[in-house]
Amino acid sequence: MRRHEHLYYVLDHPEISDSQYDALMRQLQAIEESHPELVTADSPTQRVGGKPREGFVKVRHSSAMLSLDNALNEGELLDFDRRVRELLAGDPFQYTAEVKLDGLSMAAHYDSGLFVKAITRGDGLEGEDVTENARTIRALPLRVPNALPRFEVRGEVVMLTKNFQKLNEEREREGLPRYANPRNSAAGSLRVLEPAVTAARQLNFFAYFLLVDGKPFYPGHWESLEAMRQMGFKVNPRSCVCADAGALFSFCQSMEEARDTLPYEIDGVVAKVDSVAQQDRLGWTAKAPRWAIAFKFPPRQAETVVENIEVQVGRTGALTPVARLRPVAISGVTVSNATLHNEDEIQRLDLRIGDTVLIERSGDVIPKVVRVVRHGEHRVPFTMPARCPICGGDVVRAEGEAASRCVNSNCPARLKETILHFAARGVMDIDGMGEALADQLVDRGLVDGVAGIYSLTLDQLLGLERMGPKSAEKILQNIDRSRAQPLARVLNGLGIPFVGERTAQILADTFGDLDKIAAADSDALQTANEVGPKVAQSIRGFFDDARNRDLVEVLRAAGLQFTQEIRGPVGGPLTGSTFVLTGTLPTMTREQAKARIEALGGKVTDSVSKKTTYVVAGEAAGSKLTKAEKLGVPVLDEAGLLGLLDSSKSI
Ligand SMILES: [Zn+2]
Repeated sequence: MRRHEHLYYVLDHPEISDSQYDALMRQLQAIEESHPELVTADSPTQRVGGKPREGFVKVRHSSAMLSLDNALNEGELLDFDRRVRELLAGDPFQYTAEVKLDGLSMAAHYDSGLFVKAITRGDGLEGEDVTENARTIRALPLRVPNALPRFEVRGEVVMLTKNFQKLNEEREREGLPRYANPRNSAAGSLRVLEPAVTAARQLNFFAYFLLVDGKPFYPGHWESLEAMRQMGFKVNPRSCVCADAGALFSFCQSMEEARDTLPYEIDGVVAKVDSVAQQDRLGWTAKAPRWAIAFKFPPRQAETVVENIEVQVGRTGALTPVARLRPVAISGVTVSNATLHNEDEIQRLDLRIGDTVLIERSGDVIPKVVRVVRHGEHRVPFTMPARCPICGGDVVRAEGEAASRCVNSNCPARLKETILHFAARGVMDIDGMGEALADQLVDRGLVDGVAGIYSLTLDQLLGLERMGPKSAEKILQNIDRSRAQPLARVLNGLGIPFVGERTAQILADTFGDLDKIAAADSDALQTANEVGPKVAQSIRGFFDDARNRDLVEVLRAAGLQFTQEIRGPVGGPLTGSTFVLTGTLPTMTREQAKARIEALGGKVTDSVSKKTTYVVAGEAAGSKLTKAEKLGVPVLDEAGLLGLLDSSKSI
């Protein structure tokens, strides 16, 4: 499983499918459940074992995490190069250049090959302990075989653009504010108190520094990148050794050109003098090293005029105002639309038609309006139409909601969006069912809802524009294959308001049966994790509608997956208990004791407080034992702990 994690998350080259990996995971979970003594801290199951916490502890870095001087253009880059050459007084040297990822810096510490701690950059000297959350990042190895005894890897935590877009869509659907850019969402996701939420956000980690005792271990930076790659870390392949400033600048240019094609956001290139000995000779200014520079790309912003504001109708019937712009080029892409999200956003911006605005592209598919730069001469205020621009149905804005909605459930615009959502990647995965096809299917009356997809015939598809026999057959095959998608995806595909990917998975795991979910009352639904009154009411409302019950029956007849195995939330008889381990136990290592406590849902912390449930003390226990005795916290020896673990297991 470790090998497959590495292949998938570090090398982007999986050999098995997601469902095969999931099957392995369930097998391992089952083995560990019946043999808790086999659970180790670096087991793939332990990535999401952590419990929610109350706050983050500040930790000092082994050495300051760098902040670099910037070069904003070629001239400033050449100035940097000239200073380096002068200080090195004719010594030959070379640069290592790497793309500068737009994320959040983090230091990951390893001891005896095991991942033990992760600290955010913070102010560079001191950061926050985010170990449990970082553990959920699959590109970060939990175990590094044959490694240095103790080392630290620094790198960037990023959210891939596609995950960022998905997250924002989901948040919008659930009525939550959108994240402004992938960097903010990566930072927000790493610092949530609930590791399971971090896990769901699928963060990534790219390593760029290898340190031992706060200092570079290898004599050259390139060598250390290579070493980290060998150790199993994800090192960005977009890096190179440059012989001089000319080569460096052309690398910067080529990365700026490639910027839009990369799966993550970058905002520049970092260049370092490769040799650590030469780095030491160059030294530091008051705040930054003289041997490194960040070449910053210009922000992807431009000014233009809002020529009109139109509305688009989404799957839930939400009307989204979109600014039609006088076309403007932003780093090579012509932009003519920007989303305005909703009426409140337009008010917040104080935007009217005719105004000149600042537009920015940052990870999102559709650019956004940063602010109004100048008011136009003839400003026309925007008002949300009272009728749907597509079907003429009533538009209603419910109290406490930001969105105005078309209430006609047969609105063609809603229908098309519903089909696109159902067929989307990560939902029912019906490849080929894109916008052009959905438009034709709805406009020609071939489908009047997602259920209609399953009765499409080859002849019907062949009658459509730009549809050859080969692609028609392929689409029918893809539709057929979607029948095997698991219950959680079917639930997500139904498009119940506030039920996104994550909530659908929780419901599927809790109830294991679509009919049970459809029949559950609001109280029963709220027994599922994270399902509150609002979500429960939305689910009830959906299944109380006779049309949706019909839809469910058609999908059942089509052979979709309505059941799965029930999987309870992670937890155990010791859930809610905290343990502190101190001293040397006679037969177990501290790591083993920790794993066994955690396997039963208990939590192991570092410091003793009144809230500590037990202190487990071995030989040569120190101040923690004294403190426990002072606070009256029960103290166990190893035999006592084993007794507690055994009796808990039988509960
Ligand atoms: Zn409508």
